[in-house]
Amino acid sequence: MFLCNVWSCFYGSHVELRGVDRRMLLESLTNALPADILLYDSHVVKVHRKRGCYPQAELKDGSLLQAKVIVGCDGIGSVVAKNLGLKEAHYAGYMGIRGVAMFPEGYTLKSVLSQSIGNGVRMGRFPLDSSRVYWFLVFNHPPDKVRDPSLVKEEALRLIQGWPEQLVEIVKRSPVESLSRAAISDRWMWPWSLWKLHQCGVTVAGDAMHPVTPNLAQGGCTAMEDAVLLARILSNAFNKLKERRLSVNEEMEQIDHALGGYVAQRQKRMLGIAVKANLIGKVFQTEGDFFASVRNALLPRVIRADAFVTSTLYDVRGLV
Ligand SMILES: Cc1cc2nc3c(=O)[nH]c(=O)nc-3n(C[C@H](O)[C@H](O)[C@H](O)COP(=O)(O)OP(=O)(O)OC[C@H]3O[C@@H](n4cnc5c(N)ncnc54)[C@H](O)[C@@H]3O)c2cc1C
Repeated sequence: MFLCNVWSCFYGSHVELRGVDRRMLLESLTNALPADILLYDSHVVKVHRKRGCYPQAELKDGSLLQAKVIVGCDGIGSVVAKNLGLKEAHYAGYMGIRGVAMFPEGYTLKSVLSQSIGNGVRMGRFPLDSSRVYWFLVFNHPPDKVRDPSLVKEEALRLIQGWPEQLVEIVKRSPVESLSRAAISDRWMWPWSLWKLHQCGVTVAGDAMHPVTPNLAQGGCTAMEDAVLLARILSNAFNKLKERRLSVNEEMEQIDHALGGYVAQRQKRMLGIAVKANLIGKVFQTEGDFFASVRNALLPRVIRADAFVTSTLYDVRGLV
Protein backbone atom coordinates (compact mmCIF):
# COMPACT_ATOMS: atom_id res chain seq x y z
CA MET A 1 0.00 0.00 0.00
CA PHE A 2 2.78 2.40 0.91
CA LEU A 3 5.01 1.67 -2.02
CA CYS A 4 2.58 3.01 -4.59
CA ASN A 5 2.23 6.16 -2.49
CA VAL A 6 5.87 6.91 -1.98
CA TRP A 7 7.13 9.75 -4.12
CA SER A 8 10.83 10.52 -4.08
CA CYS A 9 12.34 13.91 -4.79
CA PHE A 10 15.97 14.92 -4.93
CA TYR A 11 17.45 18.25 -3.90
CA GLY A 12 20.85 19.42 -4.72
CA SER A 13 21.34 19.16 -8.46
CA HIS A 14 21.64 22.97 -8.78
CA VAL A 15 22.32 24.07 -5.23
CA GLU A 16 25.06 23.43 -2.74
CA LEU A 17 23.99 21.41 0.29
CA ARG A 18 26.19 20.53 3.23
CA GLY A 19 25.59 18.08 6.03
CA VAL A 20 27.14 19.28 9.28
CA ASP A 21 27.63 16.98 12.22
CA ARG A 22 26.27 18.78 15.29
CA ARG A 23 29.01 17.50 17.59
CA MET A 24 31.73 18.69 15.21
CA LEU A 25 30.04 22.07 14.85
CA LEU A 26 29.86 22.48 18.63
CA GLU A 27 33.48 21.40 19.02
CA SER A 28 34.75 23.89 16.45
CA LEU A 29 32.74 26.71 18.02
CA THR A 30 33.95 25.74 21.51
CA ASN A 31 37.58 25.48 20.38
CA ALA A 32 37.46 29.05 19.13
CA LEU A 33 36.69 30.32 22.68
CA PRO A 34 39.07 30.88 25.60
CA ALA A 35 39.24 27.73 27.75
CA ASP A 36 37.66 29.09 30.96
CA ILE A 37 34.76 31.01 29.43
CA LEU A 38 32.12 28.25 29.26
CA LEU A 39 30.09 27.00 32.21
CA TYR A 40 28.49 23.59 31.72
CA ASP A 41 25.48 22.07 33.51
CA SER A 42 24.17 25.54 34.27
CA HIS A 43 20.43 25.14 34.11
CA VAL A 44 18.76 28.54 33.94
CA VAL A 45 15.48 28.61 35.85
CA LYS A 46 14.66 32.30 35.70
CA VAL A 47 15.80 35.60 34.25
CA HIS A 48 15.63 38.79 36.31
CA ARG A 49 15.37 42.02 34.36
CA LYS A 50 14.51 45.53 35.44
CA ARG A 51 14.66 48.77 33.50
CA GLY A 52 17.97 50.55 34.05
CA CYS A 53 19.75 47.48 35.53
CA TYR A 54 21.94 44.74 34.10
CA PRO A 55 19.93 41.49 33.67
CA GLN A 56 20.68 38.38 35.73
CA ALA A 57 20.20 34.67 35.02
CA GLU A 58 19.24 32.54 37.99
CA LEU A 59 20.62 29.00 37.90
CA LYS A 60 19.09 25.84 39.37
CA ASP A 61 21.59 25.92 42.28
CA GLY A 62 20.33 29.40 43.20
CA SER A 63 23.37 31.34 41.96
CA LEU A 64 22.92 34.49 39.89
CA LEU A 65 24.93 35.39 36.78
CA GLN A 66 24.93 39.04 35.81
CA ALA A 67 25.69 40.27 32.27
CA LYS A 68 25.06 43.32 30.11
CA VAL A 69 23.15 41.11 27.65
CA ILE A 70 21.47 37.73 28.14
CA VAL A 71 20.65 35.82 24.94
CA GLY A 72 18.47 32.79 25.58
CA CYS A 73 19.51 30.04 23.13
CA ASP A 74 17.72 27.42 25.18
CA GLY A 75 15.68 25.80 22.46
CA ILE A 76 11.99 25.37 21.81
CA GLY A 77 10.96 25.19 25.49
CA SER A 78 13.02 28.29 26.31
CA VAL A 79 12.84 29.63 29.85
CA VAL A 80 14.08 32.99 28.56
CA ALA A 81 11.36 33.17 25.86
CA LYS A 82 8.73 32.49 28.55
CA ASN A 83 10.27 35.23 30.66
CA LEU A 84 9.84 37.66 27.75
CA GLY A 85 6.19 36.60 27.47
CA LEU A 86 6.38 34.66 24.18
CA LYS A 87 3.60 32.15 23.75
CA GLU A 88 4.40 28.44 23.46
CA ALA A 89 5.26 26.98 20.07
CA HIS A 90 2.30 25.45 18.23
CA TYR A 91 2.39 21.69 17.58
CA ALA A 92 2.32 21.01 13.83
CA GLY A 93 0.70 17.57 14.08
CA TYR A 94 3.77 15.43 13.39
CA MET A 95 6.79 14.00 15.16
CA GLY A 96 10.36 13.77 13.84
CA ILE A 97 12.98 11.07 14.37
CA ARG A 98 16.58 11.75 13.35
CA GLY A 99 19.52 9.37 13.13
CA VAL A 100 22.90 8.72 11.55
CA ALA A 101 23.56 5.41 9.76
CA MET A 102 27.06 3.96 9.67
CA PHE A 103 28.45 2.40 6.49
CA PRO A 104 32.12 1.71 7.35
CA GLU A 105 32.56 -0.03 4.01
CA GLY A 106 31.16 3.03 2.13
CA TYR A 107 27.84 3.21 0.25
CA THR A 108 26.51 4.01 -3.17
CA LEU A 109 24.14 6.89 -2.36
CA LYS A 110 24.52 10.07 -4.40
CA SER A 111 25.45 13.20 -2.45
CA VAL A 112 21.97 14.73 -2.71
CA LEU A 113 19.19 15.17 -0.19
CA SER A 114 16.38 12.85 -1.16
CA GLN A 115 12.96 12.50 0.37
CA SER A 116 10.52 9.63 0.04
CA ILE A 117 7.03 10.74 0.85
CA GLY A 118 4.32 8.30 1.84
CA ASN A 119 0.95 8.38 3.49
CA GLY A 120 1.42 10.74 6.47
CA VAL A 121 5.03 9.49 6.78
CA ARG A 122 8.17 10.58 4.96
CA MET A 123 11.84 9.87 5.14
CA GLY A 124 14.77 12.02 4.02
CA ARG A 125 18.42 11.11 3.79
CA PHE A 126 21.65 12.90 3.06
CA PRO A 127 25.21 11.50 3.10
CA LEU A 128 27.40 13.32 5.65
CA ASP A 129 30.68 11.80 4.42
CA SER A 130 31.89 8.57 2.85
CA SER A 131 30.68 6.39 5.72
CA ARG A 132 27.74 8.15 7.41
CA VAL A 133 24.21 8.95 6.23
CA TYR A 134 21.99 11.41 8.11
CA TRP A 135 18.30 10.60 7.91
CA PHE A 136 15.01 11.84 9.30
CA LEU A 137 11.52 10.42 9.50
CA VAL A 138 8.51 12.65 9.95
CA PHE A 139 5.15 11.10 10.79
CA ASN A 140 1.67 12.24 11.80
CA HIS A 141 1.10 11.46 15.46
CA PRO A 142 -0.20 13.08 18.65
CA PRO A 143 2.68 14.70 20.57
CA ASP A 144 4.29 12.28 23.01
CA LYS A 145 7.67 11.24 24.44
CA VAL A 146 9.53 7.96 23.90
CA ARG A 147 12.69 8.02 25.98
CA ASP A 148 14.12 4.55 25.26
CA PRO A 149 16.19 4.89 22.03
CA SER A 150 15.76 1.21 21.14
CA LEU A 151 11.97 1.77 21.14
CA VAL A 152 12.52 4.80 18.89
CA LYS A 153 14.42 2.59 16.45
CA GLU A 154 11.64 -0.02 16.53
CA GLU A 155 9.09 2.71 15.88
CA ALA A 156 11.11 4.03 12.92
CA LEU A 157 11.36 0.56 11.37
CA ARG A 158 7.63 0.01 11.89
CA LEU A 159 6.81 3.31 10.16
CA ILE A 160 8.70 2.35 6.99
CA GLN A 161 7.71 -1.29 6.92
CA GLY A 162 7.40 -2.34 3.26
CA TRP A 163 9.40 0.67 1.98
CA PRO A 164 12.42 0.16 -0.27
CA GLU A 165 15.10 -2.02 1.38
CA GLN A 166 17.72 0.74 0.95
CA LEU A 167 15.74 2.98 3.35
CA VAL A 168 15.09 0.21 5.87
CA GLU A 169 18.83 -0.63 5.79
CA ILE A 170 19.68 3.00 6.67
CA VAL A 171 17.56 2.83 9.84
CA LYS A 172 18.89 -0.62 10.76
CA ARG A 173 22.48 0.65 10.41
CA SER A 174 21.93 3.51 12.88
CA PRO A 175 23.33 3.10 16.40
CA VAL A 176 20.60 3.85 18.95
CA GLU A 177 22.80 6.59 20.49
CA SER A 178 22.49 8.54 17.23
CA LEU A 179 18.69 8.67 17.41
CA SER A 180 16.58 11.55 18.64
CA ARG A 181 12.82 12.05 18.59
CA ALA A 182 10.96 15.34 18.89
CA ALA A 183 7.53 16.92 18.51
CA ILE A 184 7.55 19.36 15.59
CA SER A 185 6.26 22.82 16.46
CA ASP A 186 6.60 26.37 15.24
CA ARG A 187 5.82 29.94 16.24
CA TRP A 188 5.10 32.58 13.62
CA MET A 189 6.58 35.97 14.40
CA TRP A 190 3.87 38.28 13.10
CA PRO A 191 5.11 41.90 13.06
CA TRP A 192 1.97 42.98 14.90
CA SER A 193 2.29 40.43 17.72
CA LEU A 194 2.26 42.05 21.12
CA TRP A 195 5.12 40.10 22.69
CA LYS A 196 8.51 41.77 23.05
CA LEU A 197 11.42 39.80 21.65
CA HIS A 198 13.87 41.86 23.69
CA GLN A 199 13.62 43.75 26.94
CA CYS A 200 16.08 45.24 29.40
CA GLY A 201 19.14 43.54 27.87
CA VAL A 202 17.44 40.16 27.42
CA THR A 203 16.66 38.53 24.08
CA VAL A 204 16.44 35.09 22.45
CA ALA A 205 18.00 33.34 19.45
CA GLY A 206 17.58 30.10 17.51
CA ASP A 207 14.60 27.88 18.35
CA ALA A 208 14.03 29.92 21.49
CA MET A 209 13.10 32.85 19.24
CA HIS A 210 11.76 31.33 16.02
CA PRO A 211 11.01 27.61 16.12
CA VAL A 212 10.13 26.49 12.58
CA THR A 213 9.01 23.13 11.22
CA PRO A 214 12.00 21.36 9.62
CA ASN A 215 10.46 21.20 6.14
CA LEU A 216 12.96 23.69 4.71
CA ALA A 217 15.84 22.41 6.88
CA GLN A 218 16.45 25.94 8.12
CA GLY A 219 16.07 25.87 11.94
CA GLY A 220 19.73 25.30 12.74
CA CYS A 221 20.98 27.40 9.81
CA THR A 222 18.92 30.42 10.81
CA ALA A 223 20.06 30.01 14.43
CA MET A 224 23.58 30.57 13.11
CA GLU A 225 22.41 33.62 11.16
CA ASP A 226 21.09 34.99 14.47
CA ALA A 227 24.53 34.49 16.01
CA VAL A 228 26.30 36.33 13.18
CA LEU A 229 23.91 39.26 13.31
CA LEU A 230 23.96 39.48 17.12
CA ALA A 231 27.75 39.41 17.21
CA ARG A 232 27.98 42.24 14.70
CA ILE A 233 25.26 44.38 16.22
CA LEU A 234 26.54 43.97 19.78
CA SER A 235 30.20 44.50 18.94
CA ASN A 236 29.26 47.74 17.12
CA ALA A 237 27.21 48.86 20.13
CA PHE A 238 29.92 47.99 22.67
CA ASN A 239 32.61 49.71 20.59
CA LYS A 240 30.52 52.89 20.67
CA LEU A 241 29.88 52.53 24.42
CA LYS A 242 33.62 52.27 25.09
CA GLU A 243 34.08 55.75 23.72
CA ARG A 244 31.54 57.30 26.11
CA ARG A 245 31.11 57.40 29.88
CA LEU A 246 27.46 56.53 30.48
CA SER A 247 25.36 55.57 33.48
CA VAL A 248 24.04 51.97 33.61
CA ASN A 249 20.63 53.33 32.66
CA GLU A 250 21.97 55.09 29.55
CA GLU A 251 24.14 52.09 28.67
CA MET A 252 21.14 49.73 28.84
CA GLU A 253 19.15 52.08 26.61
CA GLN A 254 21.87 51.84 23.94
CA ILE A 255 22.03 48.05 24.29
CA ASP A 256 18.25 47.75 23.99
CA HIS A 257 18.32 49.95 20.91
CA ALA A 258 20.90 47.58 19.35
CA LEU A 259 18.84 44.51 20.30
CA GLY A 260 15.79 46.17 18.71
CA GLY A 261 17.69 46.25 15.39
CA TYR A 262 18.53 42.55 15.73
CA VAL A 263 14.94 41.58 16.51
CA ALA A 264 13.50 43.61 13.62
CA GLN A 265 15.78 41.94 11.07
CA ARG A 266 15.16 38.43 12.36
CA GLN A 267 11.41 38.94 12.51
CA LYS A 268 11.42 39.99 8.86
CA ARG A 269 13.45 36.99 7.73
CA MET A 270 11.83 34.31 9.87
CA LEU A 271 8.10 34.90 9.29
CA GLY A 272 8.34 33.86 5.61
CA ILE A 273 10.40 30.78 6.41
CA ALA A 274 8.04 29.66 9.18
CA VAL A 275 4.92 30.05 7.02
CA LYS A 276 6.44 28.41 3.93
CA ALA A 277 7.87 25.50 5.93
CA ASN A 278 4.54 24.95 7.67
CA LEU A 279 2.58 24.89 4.40
CA ILE A 280 5.05 22.51 2.75
CA GLY A 281 4.70 20.28 5.82
CA LYS A 282 0.92 20.23 5.42
CA VAL A 283 1.25 19.04 1.81
CA PHE A 284 3.97 16.51 2.58
CA GLN A 285 2.11 15.06 5.55
CA THR A 286 -1.13 14.53 3.58
CA GLU A 287 -2.83 11.42 4.82
CA GLY A 288 -5.27 9.05 3.13
CA ASP A 289 -4.55 6.94 0.05
CA PHE A 290 -6.59 9.14 -2.30
CA PHE A 291 -5.16 12.51 -1.22
CA ALA A 292 -1.61 11.16 -1.04
CA SER A 293 -1.92 9.78 -4.58
CA VAL A 294 -3.29 13.11 -5.90
CA ARG A 295 -0.41 14.94 -4.18
CA ASN A 296 2.15 12.54 -5.59
CA ALA A 297 0.75 12.94 -9.09
CA LEU A 298 0.55 16.74 -8.98
CA LEU A 299 3.54 17.83 -6.91
CA PRO A 300 6.37 16.81 -9.27
CA ARG A 301 4.57 18.63 -12.12
CA VAL A 302 3.92 21.82 -10.16
CA ILE A 303 7.06 22.28 -8.04
CA ARG A 304 10.69 21.55 -8.80
CA ALA A 305 12.43 20.00 -5.78
CA ASP A 306 15.16 22.66 -5.80
CA ALA A 307 12.51 25.37 -5.26
CA PHE A 308 12.33 24.23 -1.63
CA VAL A 309 15.85 25.36 -0.94
CA THR A 310 15.58 28.96 -2.18
CA SER A 311 15.31 30.14 1.46
CA THR A 312 18.91 29.04 1.94
CA LEU A 313 20.10 31.63 -0.58
CA TYR A 314 20.75 34.26 2.05
CA ASP A 315 24.06 36.00 2.41
CA VAL A 316 24.95 36.74 6.04
CA ARG A 317 27.73 39.08 4.85
CA GLY A 318 24.97 41.57 4.08
CA LEU A 319 23.76 41.68 7.70
CA VAL A 320 24.41 45.05 9.39
C1 LIG B 1 13.40 16.18 12.53
C2 LIG B 1 14.19 17.48 12.49
C3 LIG B 1 15.02 17.74 11.41
C4 LIG B 1 15.75 18.94 11.35
N1 LIG B 1 16.54 19.17 10.26
C5 LIG B 1 17.25 20.32 10.19
C6 LIG B 1 18.11 20.58 9.07
O1 LIG B 1 18.24 19.76 8.17
N2 LIG B 1 18.77 21.77 9.03
C7 LIG B 1 18.65 22.70 10.02
O2 LIG B 1 19.28 23.77 9.92
N3 LIG B 1 17.84 22.49 11.09
C8 LIG B 1 17.14 21.33 11.20
N4 LIG B 1 16.35 21.10 12.29
C9 LIG B 1 16.18 22.16 13.29
C10 LIG B 1 17.36 22.25 14.25
O3 LIG B 1 17.59 21.02 14.89
C11 LIG B 1 17.05 23.31 15.30
O4 LIG B 1 16.51 24.45 14.69
C12 LIG B 1 18.32 23.70 16.04
O5 LIG B 1 18.79 22.60 16.78
C13 LIG B 1 18.04 24.87 16.98
O6 LIG B 1 19.21 25.14 17.69
P1 LIG B 1 19.15 25.90 19.08
O7 LIG B 1 20.57 25.99 19.53
O8 LIG B 1 18.35 27.13 18.95
O9 LIG B 1 18.32 24.95 20.06
P2 LIG B 1 18.68 23.49 20.56
O10 LIG B 1 19.45 22.74 19.55
O11 LIG B 1 17.38 22.92 21.05
O12 LIG B 1 19.65 23.72 21.80
C14 LIG B 1 19.16 24.29 23.01
C15 LIG B 1 20.21 24.05 24.09
O13 LIG B 1 19.81 24.75 25.27
C16 LIG B 1 19.92 23.88 26.38
N5 LIG B 1 18.90 24.32 27.37
C17 LIG B 1 17.56 24.14 27.32
N6 LIG B 1 16.97 24.71 28.40
C18 LIG B 1 17.96 25.24 29.15
C19 LIG B 1 17.98 25.96 30.37
N7 LIG B 1 16.86 26.25 31.04
N8 LIG B 1 19.19 26.36 30.86
C20 LIG B 1 20.35 26.11 30.19
N9 LIG B 1 20.38 25.42 29.01
C21 LIG B 1 19.20 25.00 28.50
C22 LIG B 1 19.64 22.48 25.84
O14 LIG B 1 20.20 21.51 26.66
C23 LIG B 1 20.34 22.58 24.47
O15 LIG B 1 21.71 22.27 24.61
C24 LIG B 1 15.62 19.90 12.38
C25 LIG B 1 14.79 19.63 13.48
C26 LIG B 1 14.10 18.42 13.55
C27 LIG B 1 13.23 18.15 14.75
